[in-house]
Amino acid sequence: MWIDSHAHLTMYDPSEVNEILRSAADAGVEGILVPATCRSDLARTVELTKSYPDSVVAAVGVHPHDASSLDGELKRDIENALRSPGVVAVGEIGLDYHYMNSPREDQLRSFRWQLDLAKEADFPVVVHNRESWSDLVSVLGEPHRRLRGVCHSFTEDEAAAARVVELGLFVGISGMVTFKKADGIRAMASSLDLHRVLVETDSPFLAPVPYRGQRNQSAWVREIGVFLANHLGVDSEALARQTHDNFVRLFSPDW
Ligand SMILES: [Zn+2]
Repeated sequence: MWIDSHAHLTMYDPSEVNEILRSAADAGVEGILVPATCRSDLARTVELTKSYPDSVVAAVGVHPHDASSLDGELKRDIENALRSPGVVAVGEIGLDYHYMNSPREDQLRSFRWQLDLAKEADFPVVVHNRESWSDLVSVLGEPHRRLRGVCHSFTEDEAAAARVVELGLFVGISGMVTFKKADGIRAMASSLDLHRVLVETDSPFLAPVPYRGQRNQSAWVREIGVFLANHLGVDSEALARQTHDNFVRLFSPDW
């Protein structure tokens, strides 16, 4: 049984979610973690865990794109959402210097506040990183931190992945590992201790080969997992079991 550790179910039309979850279950995908990204999808993220308590858990937080919107009201909303039973993490948080939708200073402030919140409330974190590795690793490495969580859809090199694990985090492998030009990601994946790996779709983005160009969906975490198992030369059922156990160990879903 696979688990999709990162899927934006809030980015589909609500009428499509039943079908996406059914296809996922048919493909042997037992559970899904849905990360919130901004003020407007926070409530719906929590709502999904109530509608599908047997297969969906959530992370609540503000994506770096929307870091500038983190005001007192949104902080209170995130803190309240953490009390909801299906919410298992703070996320997705982090840094994204590709689009710079929020200025760097706002991103750093929002990231640090949410890391502190997760530590205080004893929740794991779901971390996003794009073209921001050196700031990201220096914030994660600040001396007072005590980290649990995942660096999702990780694309940095082997040394960076080793640092992520050393800091207490898991490494999330997305469908990018199947992309033709992703030799760097495949090399990084080969270096990982399988006890510290999660698999994910990051749907609706990043559809894996052979579905590139289509809208991604949770069912295809199976393709990603099978590809990764073949690449690593391990049995795909063993990898499903291992990544499933890793997810349960990290997020303790109530399934
Ligand atoms: Zn995401």
